[in-house]
Amino acid sequence: AEEMMIRSEKMSVAGQLAAGIAHEIRNPLTSLKGFLQLLQAGVNRKEEYYQIMVDEIEKMEAITSELLFISKPMTDNKDWENLPELIDDVITLLHPQAKLKNITIVQEGEDRLRLNCDRSQIKQVFINILKNAIEAMDNPGHIKVFYCLQEQTILIDIMDEGPGVPDEIIHKLGEPFFTTKESGTGLGIMITKQILDRHGGDLQIMHNRDKGSTFRISLPQSETS
Ligand code: ADP
Ligand code: MG
Repeated sequence: AEEMMIRSEKMSVAGQLAAGIAHEIRNPLTSLKGFLQLLQAGVNRKEEYYQIMVDEIEKMEAITSELLFISKPMTDNKDWENLPELIDDVITLLHPQAKLKNITIVQEGEDRLRLNCDRSQIKQVFINILKNAIEAMDNPGHIKVFYCLQEQTILIDIMDEGPGVPDEIIHKLGEPFFTTKESGTGLGIMITKQILDRHGGDLQIMHNRDKGSTFRISLPQSETS
């Protein structure tokens, strides 16, 4: 019975995803069609319409590329990775985006933490969470990445100084297409959770005492297979 329940839950997630995709793609398509018809009719504000059309196409582009990531047969390519090094790579990757908003990303922790993982998947996890942290912050400040080993579990805290996640929506994070952003895809946390799941890990979202939120990743250090 347990297994049956798990299976039917998975089905509904796939159904939810399909409905979401249809919806997310149909809206920009409808709008594109409308603007094309206006242009066909020979209206004035052409430049403005072109810009809206480009925006709509970019939205569909973002959604489809994230969906491609999900639909890729996730063959795990696991190896022993140095976690601080991997995190450092991601911080370097996101540096331009952070600098633009005067945000400094700092990392701190035990420098010899090793993790058996699929490097590109775990990098994607840090990219998704750090990007959200940057996007959440309206003012200059710090994002802290702190990692440590607790018993056999690696804990990684990513703390931002944004407004925090409101209690009313905290349970919705990770639902496909749930976003509060104008041009968000609402797929980042879902993908993150999926990857962590494949590594026997977990994601926890917490409020900081002063301001912002902490996204806590936990991963078993000894995960093999
Ligand atoms: P997207 O970033 O495209 O909106 P995500 O799945 O990455 O999709 O995030 C879903 C939602 O979770 C965001 O729209 C935002 O409302 C919320 N969220 C995620 N990270 C943070 C954060 N660090 N601070 C506040 N809210 C966040
Ligand atoms: Mg995101």
